[in-house]
Amino acid sequence: MISQKSTRFTESVIRGMTQFCIRHNAINLSQGTPGFEPPEEVKRAAIDAIQNGYNQYSITWGAPRFRQAIAHKMATFNGIPTEPDRNVTVTCGSTEGMMSTMLAIINPGDEIVIFEPFYENYGPDTIISGAKPVYVPLRETRTPEGDYQFAYDSDELRNAFSQNTKAIVLNTPNNPLGKVFSRDELQEIAALCCEFDCLAVTDEIYEHMIYDERPHVSIGALPEMRDRTITISGLSKTYSITGWRLGYVVAPEYLANAIRKMHDFLTVGAPHPLQEAGVAALQLDPAYYRQLVERYDHRRKLLLELLTEAGFRCYVPEGAYYIMTDISAFGFPSDTEFAHWLVKEIGVGGVPGSSFYSHPELGRTKLRFMFSKDEETLREAGARLMRIREKI
Ligand code: PLP
Repeated sequence: MISQKSTRFTESVIRGMTQFCIRHNAINLSQGTPGFEPPEEVKRAAIDAIQNGYNQYSITWGAPRFRQAIAHKMATFNGIPTEPDRNVTVTCGSTEGMMSTMLAIINPGDEIVIFEPFYENYGPDTIISGAKPVYVPLRETRTPEGDYQFAYDSDELRNAFSQNTKAIVLNTPNNPLGKVFSRDELQEIAALCCEFDCLAVTDEIYEHMIYDERPHVSIGALPEMRDRTITISGLSKTYSITGWRLGYVVAPEYLANAIRKMHDFLTVGAPHPLQEAGVAALQLDPAYYRQLVERYDHRRKLLLELLTEAGFRCYVPEGAYYIMTDISAFGFPSDTEFAHWLVKEIGVGGVPGSSFYSHPELGRTKLRFMFSKDEETLREAGARLMRIREKI
């Protein structure tokens, strides 16, 4: 009785690991839920909005004040001139933003270029929308300083494009690697989008979490990409409000109209009082973002140190709040077996690397941890991980 589509993907591995951690009382460094409280003024604005009557549907594509605040942020932070009435669609998280976008642009036979490893939702997104994914690997390379990083091969990227390509899906900063795409890389990708007359769909949910003074470059800000970029972001991570489900899609008007239709019939709209409070979030002053980066950078360095001491080989993330590790040194037959053993025997949860690849074997020697936790929890996780060597 069930659809063929629903049999083509499994339940989320990440959310499954969270349940497994709860069952075994382990420290959960798997799911990317921020371990911090939202800013007080943002919480207060939500309570005020409920008290002040914002309790019915908003305009389906977003409350006017919230769209105005988003348009202002897009112009000033991302460098993308944005009109609230023409370009912005507020969605139930960037998750819904990506799904509505795919449904709005995909026709049978359309191909989507995706870098792998990728955020796990993109797999089901392509299946539900009927797109054919074409994967381009981000391969491990060494920087001149000797750090391990990930980069694509230009020939492999070019070969992935064809007359059937509808779009490339980007994620910068990237989950799970923490890779931040450089301006040069984005320019190369933009040139291919122009040559093959296709779109860029870019998920920039971690845009405010970038380390070592690297800039965040939005491909939609490149002049040649203005009419062919759909930028997706949201408030979940930057303001620690993943449960509020506030995301948005910024697109040229001809695309925004199609996205708004999909959004309307999928969800009607995002929670109205929380959109009103979202205005307060987007109006926080620049110090908030500086402190956010400092707070996360401190945890990034701490977890890198703890994981390295415990025997993991770490890929240093340039952005977001995840650390991908190589677990070959522990000698387990697979990432999934190691991840389960780690929860049960050591009391720490991570995400098996295979869940981020279309070819699971590419992730068999990898495990991803997140560092959006308080320092004490990270230190306790580190102390537990030090016991791995005794137990194997
Ligand atoms: N995109 C990426 C790359 C993510 O890592 C996540 C959450 O982990 C999301 C989107 C989901 O964001 P939202 O809460 O806005 O749906």
